Amino acid sequence: MLKKINNNKDPSPLAKRICKCGCEKEFQPGRSDQFHLNSRHYNYAYNHGPRKEKYAEENQAIKTIRKNDRILEKYFKYCKKIRGDFNLLILKADGFEVETGTRIITYIEDEIEFKYVALYKYCYRIINQANNQYIKIHKI
Ligand SMILES: [Zn+2]
Repeated sequence: MLKKINNNKDPSPLAKRICKCGCEKEFQPGRSDQFHLNSRHYNYAYNHGPRKEKYAEENQAIKTIRKNDRILEKYFKYCKKIRGDFNLLILKADGFEVETGTRIITYIEDEIEFKYVALYKYCYRIINQANNQYIKIHKI
């Protein structure tokens, strides 16, 4: 005896979903934790989603901090030699970006407290003098 199969009835208990990659395609999820049409759509979402953008921003910040730290390392040696501070313009010409670095550390010099911006191995402070800006570098 033949059993009549009703093809119109959806056997899945899961409701149809819209793919989360942004393609707006509707699909039938096979599992409750499936939010994308297939692995290609999942990969697309992973590579273009906000998470990727966040990493890109962080990577850019890390790159700048690393670069700045290396520039400070280079000029720290010169500062010791000349026993003075460098004009900030020289470091800027070398690629130093002043805006980067949010960690502030306190450095005490002759019982006076100074606020320094800390990078990895070095920290710095900008000194405004007349119309010039100088940079004071310390090893952390
Ligand atoms: Zn999709």
